[in-house]
Amino acid sequence: MLKKGDIVQVKIEDMGNDGEGIGRAEGFTLFIKDAVIGDTVQALVMKMKKTYGYARLMEVTEPSPDRVTPACPVARQCGGCQLQSMSYEKQLEFKENKIANHLRRIGKFEEIPMEPIIGMEHPFGYRNKAQFPVGRNKEGKLVAGFYAGRTHSIIDNRKCILGVPENEIILEKVLSFMEEYAIEPYNEETGTGLVRHILTRYGFRTKQIMVCLIINGKVLPHKDKLTESLCQIPGMTSISLNVNMEKTNVILGREIISLWGQTYIEDYIGDVKYQISPLSFYQVNPVQTEKLYGQALEYAGLTGGETVWDLYCGIGTISLFLAEKARKVYGVEIVPEAIEDARNNARINGIHNAEFYVGKAEEVLPRKYREEGITADVIVVDPPRKGCDESLLETIVQMAPEKVVYVSCDSATLARDLRYLCDRGYELRRCRGVDQFGETVHVETVTLLVRKG
Ligand code: SAH
Repeated sequence: MLKKGDIVQVKIEDMGNDGEGIGRAEGFTLFIKDAVIGDTVQALVMKMKKTYGYARLMEVTEPSPDRVTPACPVARQCGGCQLQSMSYEKQLEFKENKIANHLRRIGKFEEIPMEPIIGMEHPFGYRNKAQFPVGRNKEGKLVAGFYAGRTHSIIDNRKCILGVPENEIILEKVLSFMEEYAIEPYNEETGTGLVRHILTRYGFRTKQIMVCLIINGKVLPHKDKLTESLCQIPGMTSISLNVNMEKTNVILGREIISLWGQTYIEDYIGDVKYQISPLSFYQVNPVQTEKLYGQALEYAGLTGGETVWDLYCGIGTISLFLAEKARKVYGVEIVPEAIEDARNNARINGIHNAEFYVGKAEEVLPRKYREEGITADVIVVDPPRKGCDESLLETIVQMAPEKVVYVSCDSATLARDLRYLCDRGYELRRCRGVDQFGETVHVETVTLLVRKG
């Protein structure tokens, strides 16, 4: 009988959806974080349930052929990357299997028309956005980095390798400014201190840089010294403050105070230009996003005469990407500010055949269908993790578009929703994973459903 505190030798035979290694010891299934499929490890049992338990990786006694040395020295403490100990090829295989397993187990699809996953050329340095918490460590030293595990103590790490190298220079400048002018970081326990987070954004195509300091107040003393120092970085375009005086885990407040330069930076996905403010949602990996939406566009097979609905459209990225090839695109999104961005993005790109509505997709689409008799040749959906509301799927079935292109960040809810549509007149024709988040367990999937008969 395994119990807490036991040390066991385990061969890792499988991997869970969160990237944890899975093996068996004395008849029990053990979940072991940071163990790689193919490893033999020594692990310390932390917690046991009836038939399974959790153990902590102590030592890799025999490494898997797919094990690699993590590129980041603090990968394990940070937890932001779950797969850094695994070769990138194996990560891609893991992601493809995850999608296929969900489609089989949850979606009950037997034949899966899976095309090879689209991986990244270089699975590091791909994130265009970073948010570093600022604080003091146990020794009282000013630090910026990430929260350790599930705690709120900050580990100093200015070189997150998923982000751009400019981040390190920015952090260096902000922290030495804070030291020189004795500006206190925010203290979560007491609610005192000023600087909470440093947000950076980078336009991969335009090389424009944004820095935004999230502060527990409305004024940053000696702010001109900070902007003077930051604007020496080539590409610096926008420096601002964000006011967040709440005692909360939510990083950003609503108010932005511009300190220097523009209030936004620009970047491109495909040929479409976007203006990105500190509060805007924008895809964090624009290079892979372009591939993902390119695949969605290919699946949509537009010839120029179609009416397309882009549901859960965010700032209209897919809508604007498809607009050039369609007669008309309608986007629906629940966040009003995102729709403002979408309309603005349409305008600055001279796109006139895209129209946007604020509201829940499951309310706007049925209303437009019943009251205005609108139609659709292609419906694209890109919902959040929980997938589509069933009433939305019901409306899609009633509207009977020729094609449904489903873009998903959670293959489990994707599988559930595809089953619903495939029981009601659709056929799963194509399916492909796109890796937007190398080193992590997340994967995007794009699928094409075609109406039968
Ligand atoms: N395609 C978008 C991102 C989609 S992310 C882009 O590329 O920018 C999912 C979006 O769905 C988020 O913007 C979220 O605000 C929105 N959303 C969540 N629930 C919704 C609902 N019920 N109806 C419409 N939009 C919703």
